[in-house]
Amino acid sequence: MRKQKIFRFAPSPNGFLHLGHAYSALLNYQYAKKTNGKFILRIEDIDIGRTKDIYIQAIYEDLHWLGIKWESPIMLQSERFDIYKKFSNKLHKMGLVYPCFCSRKEIINNAISKDPDGAPLYAKTCKKLNAKTIAQNIENKMPFALRLDMDKATQITGNIEINSAQINPLATPKFSAANPKNWGDVVIVRKNMPSSYHLSVVIDDEAQNITHVIRGKDLKKATDIHVILQKLLGLASPIYFHHKLITDKASVKLAKSNNSLSLRDLRKRGISAQEIIEQFGFDDL
Ligand code: GLU
Repeated sequence: MRKQKIFRFAPSPNGFLHLGHAYSALLNYQYAKKTNGKFILRIEDIDIGRTKDIYIQAIYEDLHWLGIKWESPIMLQSERFDIYKKFSNKLHKMGLVYPCFCSRKEIINNAISKDPDGAPLYAKTCKKLNAKTIAQNIENKMPFALRLDMDKATQITGNIEINSAQINPLATPKFSAANPKNWGDVVIVRKNMPSSYHLSVVIDDEAQNITHVIRGKDLKKATDIHVILQKLLGLASPIYFHHKLITDKASVKLAKSNNSLSLRDLRKRGISAQEIIEQFGFDDL
């Protein structure tokens, strides 16, 4: 028997869902239905400072309004910090992470180039710290992040590849080279929380047996980081498909306004879920 395909929509509840989210959720849902697969909703709420309960409730309401049904129970990342810790400990034991005490300002000021997202590339300042300074800083309760030593990590993994589908999520996937080095020593555990998006997402995609990650093109480059983490941690790597981003054009058509409106705003303006679904060209939902 063929393996059942498992798709997921994984929003971060730090705002209301907008049309871009609707497109992503509907696309995943459509493929889950098409293949008799599963559609999983995962709440990516590791950033407890920015997460709000009303946003989580709104996700349920908005998806329900769009006619989407999901599996239960819903995974909430905020309930899985001990699991993320186990995996970051594993990287630590492998000698692949180091503490970084730099402030945002220091990171910006010391950067000599940019990462693939255009953010300042970390200058590896704290990689040079000796054990004594590290111990002192920790004793002085200086907050720190954990960064991946990318040189060491890539030495261990050698060349790595991303398996991605191009034309549509079910097209035969092809392997292409990943270049995680472009990201430098990325943060694996953030200063104010026991994980990071990159660490949690690869752990949870495997924990939920996700076969196809369908998400926006804005996360395409970050897949380089995801596949190296999967290789280092012995996690399965799904097939990736990065969809077009919904620009304000779709909003303008639907909302007759230039602002990127939330789904609840559109709803208040009398736009129906069906209009949104048609606008995107989804038919068989
Ligand atoms: N939580 C991420 C976001 O809302 C998406 C993660 C993913 O699809 O990999 O941007």
